[in-house]
Amino acid sequence: MEKKHDFTLSLVVPAYNEEESIQTFIDTIDKELATLSDRLQIVFVNDGSRDRTRQVIEEVITRDPRVTLVNLARNFGKEAAMTAGLFHARGDAVIPMDVDLQDPPALIHEFVRLWQEGYDTVYGVRTDRNADTAMKRVTAGGFYRLFNAVSTTTKIPENAGDFRLMDRRVVEVIKQLPERNRFMKGLFAWAGFNSIGVPYERPARAAGETKFNYWKLWNFALDGFFSFSSWPLRVWSYIGAGVALLSFIYMLVIITKVLFFGIDSPGYASLMCVILFLGGMQLISIGVIGEYLGRMFLEVKQRPVFVVEGIYGQYARDDQQEKA
Ligand code: UDP
Ligand code: MG
Repeated sequence: MEKKHDFTLSLVVPAYNEEESIQTFIDTIDKELATLSDRLQIVFVNDGSRDRTRQVIEEVITRDPRVTLVNLARNFGKEAAMTAGLFHARGDAVIPMDVDLQDPPALIHEFVRLWQEGYDTVYGVRTDRNADTAMKRVTAGGFYRLFNAVSTTTKIPENAGDFRLMDRRVVEVIKQLPERNRFMKGLFAWAGFNSIGVPYERPARAAGETKFNYWKLWNFALDGFFSFSSWPLRVWSYIGAGVALLSFIYMLVIITKVLFFGIDSPGYASLMCVILFLGGMQLISIGVIGEYLGRMFLEVKQRPVFVVEGIYGQYARDDQQEKA
């Protein structure tokens, strides 16, 4: 494919309160991707930052025509910000990456090489997560295993993040997905195509601090889990069937006992156990239905995934001219 030797690359970089990281990011890109320099488009998505992120990016734009700023109207979250970036990525291949340099730019050479060999998606696989806390490593590992166990249609490679190179045709598929709940790792994997992983060591954050606390991560995991599996809904049929069968057997036991040994009335403890146990199970199952109902509610409202305040940089001006 000749396009793969005369190609452009878009970096899609969501940024939320990252004023310290933007310039370092650009400097590192210039240093480590010098040979690709002319082929790059850098799409920063300012995800409603409350610090000077926007101003810093605008300063960069005045010096560097490769940079585009997609400025969102408020903080929509990383997944939405990435989605917004994909819509403004022009390259033949698109690379979502974090601005904090935890996704090492040098790896992109390897991504491009494999892409030129014919892979449509080349994703980074974190071999050691020493930069993460032990707690995060354990919970992340558990999440990937559980996700892949219950998700029948989509398997996400363990320890792969959003850092990856995607061919234009994969990006076009992702752009067409209508859902509001955008668990990007899952969506990327859902698209399929010819994929390969590249191992790398994930360094610690270059500056600033993580935007994800455990509560956010927990909810993020739930989003991924519930949007890729209906197993939690269906499992109740099996649990119900199991409980009904046991109850039926127990009923036969009780009837037999009454017929042969007469009525034996004390039964407060066993009754309480059964009532409390079944009550608890019913509440859990209603909670699961609520989980899906709430998500369906959010989907049917059909609100956009993100709102763009404005687009800045050479790309935006070209776009204007094209339309005029
Ligand atoms: N991010 C974002 N919106 C948010 C939270 C994070 O755009 O609401 C960006 C952030 O600026 C960074 C990337 O997502 O470029 C990853 O965030 P972070 O490094 O905090 O996550 P971690 O690496 O700790 O998982
Ligand atoms: Mg990070």
